[in-house]
Amino acid sequence: MTQRIAVYPGSFDPVHCGHMDIAQRAANLFDHLIVAVYEHPKKAVLFSAQERVTMVKTVLAHIPNVSVYSYTGLTVDFARSKGAQVLVRGLRVISDFEMEYQMALTNQQLSPNIDTICLMTRYEYAFLSASLVKEVYSAGGDVSQMVHPIVLEFLLRKQLAGTLRAD
Ligand code: ADP
Repeated sequence: MTQRIAVYPGSFDPVHCGHMDIAQRAANLFDHLIVAVYEHPKKAVLFSAQERVTMVKTVLAHIPNVSVYSYTGLTVDFARSKGAQVLVRGLRVISDFEMEYQMALTNQQLSPNIDTICLMTRYEYAFLSASLVKEVYSAGGDVSQMVHPIVLEFLLRKQLAGTLRAD
């Protein structure tokens, strides 16, 4: 029987508990989940693609049917190259919807055989975003409830190197 493979794409700059929750739930729904770290998002990133992949791999290491890659180019092309039939996205507040809807329809035009499914966030992560993590951390706040301890180490390293930005 064909394996049901899903791709969960994003910037993951850095990965946080909201992402981890979506990944865990998607991994429960599919035979295999590939977390795809977009190398060059339009927005400025704090962490290199390599650093983001390392963080995602570490925080999801306990889930056996998950693998992590970085990619460039179209998400649907990456998904096709991995034999995936589905893209997974997370939905937080209503304001996410318009963007996700537009992206899902665009990807449908580009690749009609690949479907997008959106998983609703858990209540406690509804307002959690990577930008919020960076903003709170750079202002000296405690983000230990928002990210895995390994991400705290990566944030500290940026802070010590003087390259911590909140954008
Ligand atoms: P992008 O750069 O594509 O917006 P992100 O790394 O910010 O990617 O997020 C990747 C995916 O995870 C997106 O579908 C986003 O909506 C989802 N996501 C981000 N934060 C949360 C959260 N707190 N709860 C659920 N899903 C989330």
